[in-house]
Formats: sequence, C-alpha cells, structure tokens
Amino acid sequence: MRILAADQVIVIGAGIGGLCCAIDLARSGFAVTVVERAATCGGKMREIVVGGRTIDAGPTVFTLRWVFDALFADAGASLDEFLTLRPLEILARHTWADASALDLFADMERSAAAIDAFAGKAEAAGYRAFQAEAKGVFDSLKSTFLTQQKTGPIGLTGRFGLSGAAGLFRLRPYETLWRALGDHFHDPRLRQLFGRYATYCGSSPFQAPATLMLVAHVEQAGVWRVEGGMARLAQALEALARRLGVSFRLSMPVASVRVQNGRAAGVELADGETIGADAIVVNADPAALTSGALGLGAARRAPRPAQRSLSAVTWGLVASAPGASLSHHNVLFSGDYPAEFDDIFRQARLPASPTIYVCAQDRYEALDPPPGSPERFLVLINAPARGDQASSSPEEIMSCQSEVFGRLRQMGLEIGSETPSVLTTPATFNALFPATGGALYGQATHGWRAAFDRPGARTRLPGLYLAGGGTHPGAGVPMAALSGRLAASCLKADRASMFRWRRGAMLGGMSTP
Ligand SMILES: Cc1cc2nc3c(=O)[nH]c(=O)nc-3n(C[C@H](O)[C@H](O)[C@H](O)COP(=O)(O)OP(=O)(O)OC[C@H]3O[C@@H](n4cnc5c(N)ncnc54)[C@H](O)[C@@H]3O)c2cc1C
Repeated sequence: MRILAADQVIVIGAGIGGLCCAIDLARSGFAVTVVERAATCGGKMREIVVGGRTIDAGPTVFTLRWVFDALFADAGASLDEFLTLRPLEILARHTWADASALDLFADMERSAAAIDAFAGKAEAAGYRAFQAEAKGVFDSLKSTFLTQQKTGPIGLTGRFGLSGAAGLFRLRPYETLWRALGDHFHDPRLRQLFGRYATYCGSSPFQAPATLMLVAHVEQAGVWRVEGGMARLAQALEALARRLGVSFRLSMPVASVRVQNGRAAGVELADGETIGADAIVVNADPAALTSGALGLGAARRAPRPAQRSLSAVTWGLVASAPGASLSHHNVLFSGDYPAEFDDIFRQARLPASPTIYVCAQDRYEALDPPPGSPERFLVLINAPARGDQASSSPEEIMSCQSEVFGRLRQMGLEIGSETPSVLTTPATFNALFPATGGALYGQATHGWRAAFDRPGARTRLPGLYLAGGGTHPGAGVPMAALSGRLAASCLKADRASMFRWRRGAMLGGMSTP
C-alpha cells in the first residue's frame, strides 16, 4: 500500500461539492487528491454532444453567485478571472395548455406588472407578499442553517436567538408548500408556477414544507448565464483547485473506503491500487455509502436510507424553432399538477402528462439566433428515481417521448425522425451516479423533518466526511458548493482538535512522574 504523508485527504468525486471542498482544504495546507470515476470534472454538471454540438446536460439555472464569489475570494482569486457571467433579465417563460403565458423578470416590479396583466391586481399583491415571505425565510435560514453545519430542530431554535421557537414557526415547517401558496394565490396557474420550486430540491410541492419557498427568493435574487455553458463553472473550479496544488485522478472509480482501527484510512481503487489518507471526503451520493457500493466497512456507519428525490428524463436536441416564442428558460406546465406528482411519487411511473422544462441554450434575449437556424435544447421532465429497479420499459419511455415531442412541436420546435437527439433516463443517471436509482437531489425534502434528516458533513466513522447535493444544506449547484465548504471546515476542525489532543497527551505524559 502506498502511504502518503500526514494530512493527506482523498476526495471521492469531482462534483461541485467535491471540488469546492478540495479548494478549501488545499488552501488550508492539506495535500488533496480528488479521485473521479468520470473522465471529466463536474459530476451532474456535464456536457453531451448532440449532432456535433455541445449541450449542457445538467444544471442550467445558475443562482446565488455570491457563494462562488466568496469561495474564489477566500482562495485569493476572483470568479470573474475564470468565468464570464451575464445576468438574465427574463428569469423564465411559463406557458399553459390554454396558451396563456407569463414571464418572470429579474426586476420584481416588472414581474408584478406582468402578473397583474396575467391574473389581476389581487394576484400581483399576492405575488409581492409571497416574495416578501420567501425572502424572510431565506434571510432567516442563510446564517443559521444554510451556511452552518447541520443541526436539529432544537439546535436551530437556539441559533434563532431571542426569537427562538417563534422565529422557527414563522418558516411554516409544518405546512406544505402547496398549502402555503394558497394564502397568496388564488389563480391555480400561479400556485403551480411557484409550487414548481419544490422540484429544484427534487421534491413534490404537495409534500415539501412551505419553508422551500426560499427557492423562489433564490431565483428572484438573480439568475446568470455562464458564457460558454455551465460546464465552464466546473472547469473554473478544477483550474483553481489545480492552481492550489490539488491532484486529480480522473477515469478512476473508487471501489471502497478502507477502514483501519475504527477510522477511515484510505481508499481502494477499481484497478486494485490502495492509497492511504488521514481523511476521506465522499462527494458521491450518500446512498453509495449506505448501499455498500463503497465497501461494507464504511456502510456500517453510513447514513440510513431515505426516500429518494426526483430523477429525470432528458433529451438533448438540435432543432430549428423558427416560430417558437422561447426565452432561455421555459416551462410548459401540465394540466393536472397533483396527478403528475402522484404518478411520480405514489405510482412510481413516468407522468402521463408531464410538466416540460426547455432550456433554449442559444437564446439570450437580445442575442437570439437567426430564425430557422438549428438551436441547442435541453428538455427535461421529472421522473421517479427507479433507475436501478424495474426501470421504465422502452415502450413507456417512447410513449413519454412522443407526448413530450408532440407538445414541443405545438410550440414550434421542428422535431422529426432525423432530429439529432440524446436521451437520458433514470437508468442512465443511476449508472452515472451509483446507488441513487437516478435520484438527482439526494433524499426528498418531504415533511417538516426532512431538512434535518439530511446527513451532515461528519459521519459516524471518524475520518470520513460527506459533501455534495445529497448532504446538508441540500441540492442544487450553490447548495452543493456550500456543503463542500462545510465538509472542509468540519474536517479542519476535527484535525485541529485531534492535533491539540495528541499534543496535550504528549505534554501530559512528559509531566507525569
Ligand atoms: C439534469 C439536471 C438538471 C439540474 N438542474 C439544476 C439547475 O438548473 N440548477 C441547480 O442549481 N442545480 C441543478 N441540478 C442539480 C445540481 O446539478 C446538483 O445538485 C449538483 O451539481 C450536485 O453536485 P454534487 O457535489 O452533489 O456532485 P455530483 O454532481 O453528484 O457528482 C458526484 C461525483 O462523484 C463521482 N463518483 C461517484 N461515485 C464515485 C466513485 N466510486 N469513485 C469516484 N468517483 C465517484 C461521480 O462520477 C460524480 O462526478 C440539476 C441536476 C441535473 C442532473
């Protein structure tokens, strides 16, 4: 076994959480090796090639840029040095089967005016009240929960200080998001639009706590387009990590976490090589540990299994859309939202009539491509995370595809049998992200306890840490980044206290007569 020197850390996985953790550890003096099974960094932030063109096939909505500004600044760099980010004026375009359409804008008053024209003054007032509440929830949780190590309800009450339990109660953890939206909106389309934010955490608006309305504020606070595509962000993180001395082993799956004397002590790679380390950070989904996919020694101390979040079926397409009225981000709502989530979470099948998200990757407001020229699209519907079980049959997938393509044609996309198209199913996601069943956001945030039940950075196995969207504070690019930073600070604190304890024991030993 090749033994590395002291304070060596291995990060399993080069997703956003793993990269951010590696950056923080490297700038603090740790010798970090990132071991990644894929050939490139980024994890879910990945690209595919369709008809010879590169398409973002993972996250497309980039929010909370301050998370990355802070990460780069703390490492003595600047995000702008690595990336060009452009704020979007139109956050998203929403359409319904009755041909009604509503844009939301970065400028809240412009959105309120659009809602007034769409559904009337009372709904516009409801929108303002909703955004104020969502901002309140986000502001309360930003410094007490999202940027802090995992805690339970009692710990969080304590962090709320004088407002204590009353402050916590104002976040409406015991109500569903759907129920809370009914206080602000009477138009079912608006309830559907704002309920969809639960899916950003892979959850159903009918089961997620109202607290998840904070996602609406996250988007209202700004959506950026990354020049050259989202994958440039992963590349920027990799470049910063390399600059700080992080080593990468790409195309190299980790077969297991080695446990020695009750501690995580290294990893065994798929080719049989073993590497010792002082600490291991798992950026793979926590389910990989729980299932034993990273060895039985680590599985014994892994987080308990939990209800999986949403998976997805996606299509990367290159098609002309001369008549389509599209923004960069577009949502085509289903006619029956409760039935859609019932299909996914209760019946565990693809929704008969899905809500369709379309990222028109070449449309940037003033810079739309010439009408009729082939454009790049990522099309996504939510799906049950059963990619490792009796996954959808080819017939089920094809019937879903013909429903989705039919609706895309109605909105002006020219899709035929020759259209370049790359399909990704829950089974594909399960193969890319082992032991997840294709779940893309860790465990579902259903019920008031769910946010507290998400595993934290520290596991029950000394020396083993978790980072990523399956870990506190949750899924999505900025949350995965925060999780990586929390894992780094937890690991640093543990190493420092271990060092103090050893030094204390040695000094104590010397003074003993
Ligand atoms: C289609 C799609 C759309 C999305 N849309 C958005 C969006 O618009 N906005 C947003 O903010 N978020 C979005 N998300 C969610 C966001 O992408 C994720 O929450 C985030 O990228 C997860 O990062 P992570 O740190 O958990 O790492 P992951 O991306 O999960 O990466 C984990 C890495 O670990 C590696 N790994 C696993 N097992 C091993 C092993 N045994 N050995 C070595 N390596 C291993 C994997 O190969 C992978 O690279 C989307 C996700 C998907 C898939």
